[in-house]
Amino acid sequence: MNSIKFRLFVYYCAISFVIFGILGVFLYFSLEDIVLKSIDNALMTKAKAIATLISEDEGINFKFSDEILKEYSKHSKHYFQIIQGQKIIEKSESLKGESLPILKEVKTVTFKNEPVRIVPFSFKINNKQFTIECAQDIDDKIDLLQTYLGILSIAIVVAIILSAFGGLIVVNAMLKPLKKISLTISKLSESNLSKSHIDENVANELKPLAIAFNKTFARLDNVFNKQKQFVADVSHELKTPLSVILMETEMALRKQRKIDDYINTIDQIKNSALHMKNIIDTLLKLISIENTKLLEKKTCDIKEIIKKSIFLSKQQLDKRNIDLKINGETFFIEADETLITEVFLNLIDNSIKYNKEFGIIDINIDASKKIVEIIDSGIGIEKEALDKIFDKFYRADPSRSKTIEGLGLGLSLVKEILELHKSKIKVESKPNIGTKVTIYF
Ligand code: ADP
Repeated sequence: MNSIKFRLFVYYCAISFVIFGILGVFLYFSLEDIVLKSIDNALMTKAKAIATLISEDEGINFKFSDEILKEYSKHSKHYFQIIQGQKIIEKSESLKGESLPILKEVKTVTFKNEPVRIVPFSFKINNKQFTIECAQDIDDKIDLLQTYLGILSIAIVVAIILSAFGGLIVVNAMLKPLKKISLTISKLSESNLSKSHIDENVANELKPLAIAFNKTFARLDNVFNKQKQFVADVSHELKTPLSVILMETEMALRKQRKIDDYINTIDQIKNSALHMKNIIDTLLKLISIENTKLLEKKTCDIKEIIKKSIFLSKQQLDKRNIDLKINGETFFIEADETLITEVFLNLIDNSIKYNKEFGIIDINIDASKKIVEIIDSGIGIEKEALDKIFDKFYRADPSRSKTIEGLGLGLSLVKEILELHKSKIKVESKPNIGTKVTIYF
């Protein structure tokens, strides 16, 4: 009972009821007006005819033609009475023993338990005021009007029922595309998202809905696919160190070995476990950043954050003999300091890791544009790999990446943090010349 269909149907009935009701009332009163006007005209003509007769003999003798006498005979339902001043001085035979009320204007009264229409007509003869009231029993006309009212009421009820059914057909036709949409949605599941499509060839009003649903399906499909890919990647990444642990333990258990061999095996297991811990820690960090809704923002000095990140990477810089310079004046941003430090730690770490021995790193700060560039003289990135470096677990050039430690998660983390701060990152690179990373705050 709470369905749109039912509500539309009720509205449709209510509207038709009001429209047909108004039309019916208008038709009934128009007809009543026409009927009464024609009676009034006829009565007025008769009153005027009687007045002419009276005028002819100056209101002294009331001699009426046979025709008049016959019309107003004893059992006739047509009446007249002549009034002088307030006194009835003559009346038709049909009124014998009774009188009509003396009226100033046309009116329907009840006389002998019947509706009677009275039309008065006043005139003067020799300064004497006369009024002729002609009247007619209109019971048959009222009956006719009531019959008409009955037929009209039935016609209106039939019209309302028919239009309500018409409305039901219209409502059904209107809801058909919606039903189709809901059917497609009800069949929706993770596995058939890519194939789910709502026909956009629908009524203009429903087109935006169909388009919005199709876009949502595509987005959800993309999210599910990314999720699947992510799970596959994580499993793959964890599988390698886990295989190393299994292999090492199996080898160690196969036969009695020397103490140094055991130490070596335990060391291998420890490294693999550390690698797994690293993956899990970074993933947890990534997930917590993805789920961050409220940043702990405060005014941050960009140069100070960069200096802090360099300080934390000092050991690596020295180890690889890399010369790092900071150029430009600082600027301030409203940001989560820990997360922005994480960004610079990752980017500086990359510019050291993928740099050459005795390489250089320039960090340029442009306060006017709120831009920071990190330019290294490292191994660079191939053009085809540039689009993928922000994907989780992606590492360009696996042969080189093997010798350089990394999880392929740093740049995903960086991008996620910058998006949270409504900032952007751009990477330009030339293999064997170097890489330029630009952050737009
Ligand atoms: P990781 O460094 O742990 O591998 P990242 O997500 O930080 O993961 O980087 C993804 C890949 O992008 C790296 O494996 C590397 O191939 C490439 N890359 C990132 N920064 C640089 C850089 N400064 N120079 C050369 N290659 C880079």
